[in-house]
Amino acid sequence: MHDLVIRNGKIVDGTGQPARSGDIAVDGGVITSAGGKAGAGRREIDAGGLLVAPGWVDIHSHYDGQVVWDPYVTPSSWHGVTTVIMGNCGVGFAPVRPGAEEYLINLMEAVEDIPTATLAAGINFEWETFGDYLDALSRMKRAIDIGAQIGHCALRVYVMGERGARNEEATPDDLAAMFAIVRDGMKAGALGASTSRTHVHRTRAGELVPGTFVSVDEVLAIGKALGAAGHGVFEVISDMKGPDQSMGWMIELTKATGLPISLAALGDGPTGPGIRRRLDFMRQANAGGARLVSQLAVRSPGQLMGLETSSNPLIGLPSYDEIAHLPVSERVVRMRDPQVRARIISEMPETDSNHFNVPTDGYANLFPLGEPPNYEPTKEMNLEERAKREGKSPQAAYYDTMLERDGRELVYRPFNYTRSYSLDPVRDLLLDPVNIISLSDGGAHCAEICDAGAPTFLLEHWVRDRGRNGRIPLETAVKRQTRETAQLYGLEDRGALLPGLKADINLIDFDRLKSFAPEIVADFPANGKRFIQRAEGYKYTIVSGEVVFQDGEPTGAMPGKVVRGGQKSAQ
Ligand SMILES: [Zn+2]
Repeated sequence: MHDLVIRNGKIVDGTGQPARSGDIAVDGGVITSAGGKAGAGRREIDAGGLLVAPGWVDIHSHYDGQVVWDPYVTPSSWHGVTTVIMGNCGVGFAPVRPGAEEYLINLMEAVEDIPTATLAAGINFEWETFGDYLDALSRMKRAIDIGAQIGHCALRVYVMGERGARNEEATPDDLAAMFAIVRDGMKAGALGASTSRTHVHRTRAGELVPGTFVSVDEVLAIGKALGAAGHGVFEVISDMKGPDQSMGWMIELTKATGLPISLAALGDGPTGPGIRRRLDFMRQANAGGARLVSQLAVRSPGQLMGLETSSNPLIGLPSYDEIAHLPVSERVVRMRDPQVRARIISEMPETDSNHFNVPTDGYANLFPLGEPPNYEPTKEMNLEERAKREGKSPQAAYYDTMLERDGRELVYRPFNYTRSYSLDPVRDLLLDPVNIISLSDGGAHCAEICDAGAPTFLLEHWVRDRGRNGRIPLETAVKRQTRETAQLYGLEDRGALLPGLKADINLIDFDRLKSFAPEIVADFPANGKRFIQRAEGYKYTIVSGEVVFQDGEPTGAMPGKVVRGGQKSAQ
């Protein structure tokens, strides 16, 4: 008698093999048979008509604080994610010296737009070293698995204090200390380390975050520490300038350690000419023994702007600020008043704000998101074109868009989108093994960006709905979001529906799978605001053989663990 049997599903097992129908048997939290006919189970789930796939493994999140207060790690788990990896882009909450907590909180707020009041209320900081942090997280109950990387910012400030925060050059002693701390953190079970090498990530005071443009010696000290521990990924977000342009240090480091660098290269995005050259170069380097992968978002990451988001072009306008404190329902009523409307519109800027320091094309790069959300709008849908059609200014089109859906409509500003006005260029990249699916940024940019539902988008848009120039095969999409992301981090115990692997499983009503438009809620500690995005179609999400969500509702089961690197299975 098996613990659990999932009957008659359409199994897409994460290895890339063609879909087949059959049963999955689970015993002791582990898959014991996949495909064919299984014997009786103490619990049986009829999966007739459902897609049966591994739980999604999301490698680029910023849930470092949220995992302390939210056992469900939402919204990722609502989208079938059963393992999240956090500690990306250099930011995190360990190691930390007593007294430095506030610094790290402010940094996380500045870089990832997670409210400071929320972090201060939600995190108890009962740790100092990275190992302590993992131990503290391990003591908490949770529904899904989490894994953490050591952020360079926290590390640098831990070792160098004020000097580190001010981005002074590290001494040889500092480098030796960083090496030892990263090595020890890796031995305690970190899954990797990360660093930020972009001008985009700044403190509230406008300073570059600690470690941004430090010498190559310093990043090598971190990378070599992973080598000394014998496992882990070095996650690097970079503008690809200076020593990063040639990727020389990355190539040498990965050759020396045999461990991968996962690169989030900022710049002209999937539609630009630069990326093809860079990927060719990475492929060549890999053929010569390097291990470089490029992080790819399944759609253009994009800022969302509405009446409740952290930024929108109305904030700061005198006539808007007079009513900005009102609840949205009342604000909408006031904003519909023709005189108020005319006054605010006359104060609006010529182009949209450049909040993210990314090149944009003004109103031509702004689109109503809609419900259901449209993440691949055509050129005709942009606000400039809409304004022309409706015989008004782009500012007026922006204003009126935000009032739609009773003031809940969002204006979508996809980064690097106007060269193609489509996601066509992303399709090749999705099929290219030098890329790894990433950048959902779950838990970050709380009231600005919401791409945590990317795995759902991958299936509903890229596999099922997309017209234009093509879709991608279901088996490929599943493999890319499961086996490949897991294997990058050495998580050989999950990511596929194979006997002996962890029973992390999604049962999906594929035809009805659907993302809803993101919405702002205030459910964080200290009433912090954030975007959430709901989904429909995930009938069951199973972690270690236990159903954690059924029809979108949590069951209360808490089989989730802290995944420790450098060992075969979750602790
Ligand atoms: Zn990030």
